[in-house]
Amino acid sequence: MASEGRHMGRRYKEGPSRHQLLLMPPSIEEYVDVDSKVRAIDVYVSTLDLEKLGFQNAGGELSAGQPAFEPAALLKLYLWGYLNRTRSSRRLERETYRNLEVIWLLNQLHPSYKTIADFRKNNPTALKAVNKDFILLCRELSLFGAELVAIDSAFMEGNASKASIQTRTKLKRLQAKLEADIEAWHTTLAQGDRQEAQAAQDEEAMQDKLARLKRHLQHCQQDMEHLEASGETQLSRTDPDARLLNKKTDKGPTAGFNVQCAVDSQHGLIIASDVVNDGNDQNQLARMALQAKENLGTKNLEVVADSSYYNQLELKACEDADITPFVAISQRGKHDGRFGREDFIYDPDSDCYRCPAGNVLKFSCMGKTNNGKQMRRYISSRTDCKSCPLRGQCLKEKSNRRQLQRWEHEEVVERHQQRMETEGEAYMKQRAALAEHPLGTIKMWAGWTHFLCRGLDKVRAEFSLMTLSYNFTRVLNILPDLERFREYCEKRVA
Ligand code: SF4
Repeated sequence: MASEGRHMGRRYKEGPSRHQLLLMPPSIEEYVDVDSKVRAIDVYVSTLDLEKLGFQNAGGELSAGQPAFEPAALLKLYLWGYLNRTRSSRRLERETYRNLEVIWLLNQLHPSYKTIADFRKNNPTALKAVNKDFILLCRELSLFGAELVAIDSAFMEGNASKASIQTRTKLKRLQAKLEADIEAWHTTLAQGDRQEAQAAQDEEAMQDKLARLKRHLQHCQQDMEHLEASGETQLSRTDPDARLLNKKTDKGPTAGFNVQCAVDSQHGLIIASDVVNDGNDQNQLARMALQAKENLGTKNLEVVADSSYYNQLELKACEDADITPFVAISQRGKHDGRFGREDFIYDPDSDCYRCPAGNVLKFSCMGKTNNGKQMRRYISSRTDCKSCPLRGQCLKEKSNRRQLQRWEHEEVVERHQQRMETEGEAYMKQRAALAEHPLGTIKMWAGWTHFLCRGLDKVRAEFSLMTLSYNFTRVLNILPDLERFREYCEKRVA
């Protein structure tokens, strides 16, 4: 019965034999789908003036020996790679031999992994310029709403380990340990301790060990001097720009960079991106918002960000540039049950504060904070406070009157506070939906949680490729078909 079943039909589909000769082999062109993204990459890169964008060897100069690979081919390869979660130069080289889309895209060229890696390493500025050009293309296609932008950040690991990054504390600790070890070896040698010497095979080996420790100590001292001279707080011999960045997670610090993204609300496209090695977002808001506004070419813009971006100077810089910020306000400023600033009412006409007991805090003098903010100081009357029934809720135990400080541009803070009270909740919901998607996609979908390049400039170029691939994929999903994209690209060149 079993053999009868086998004869009745085939269990699985079968392809033609590998050894069957094809009379008319199809061309490579026929292997690539008409709607394949690889065709979009090809047509887009063909529109670019690579020489103007600053790519090396883009002028087509004749050279002795083997001709160079055309930058357009290498750019197409990288764009294909980043769109397909392949960014290592060795893997890209492999794909040039086995992947029909890549074979089609590169016209059967096979650059070596070194050529591929050097292209990314040697063209950081040009790669950033391509990213910007694609943002302009999206703008020309009216894909930006240009009204609201959400800003967010994430830490990504650099090409340097945590152990390779030294801080003053780590260096001091290491220096002390090395000095103690050297001292111990000296003592051992001086005492002619035979037991120790035998454990280390012989005295010559001990001398070697001592010399190694001394060299290590010398490097440690050089690092400390370098750190002092640079004014930096950290130093890495592997990647001089990578830093230990602290976030309140169980994983401890990240050795790497802080990536920044500004996302337009219409289609969730990244309108501006950057990489910094400052673990704190407090100085990034205005810079990112201004970059987004410039790329959008709009007069006014609203930006929304989480509380890690809250900085009053940044709020003012945004307002000065006609950008309206909505930044979550951290609740950290509460006053141990005592009256806070918000319980005192400012009277702009008489330039004074009125306290909860109805008494006046008069202007006393000007002061300056560490970050350069000019502060006006206001102070209550000792007599009023002495007899005040609210004294226990207002003053610290040893104080006899209350002082307040007001920034010379406090109205910026008050306007922001007002906006957040009335509309903040709705903006914060939009922020979460908008800003976290691109960085989540880059980190979780693509799996890019670390950089391959070293140095801030090259890392920025690498992140430009990541954001470009994110925008590229998104644009192809937004547009009804590839034809529209192709037509637009062709028109752009004409
Ligand atoms: S203690 Fe002084 S400042 Fe505070 S509520 Fe009383 S009078 Fe006003």
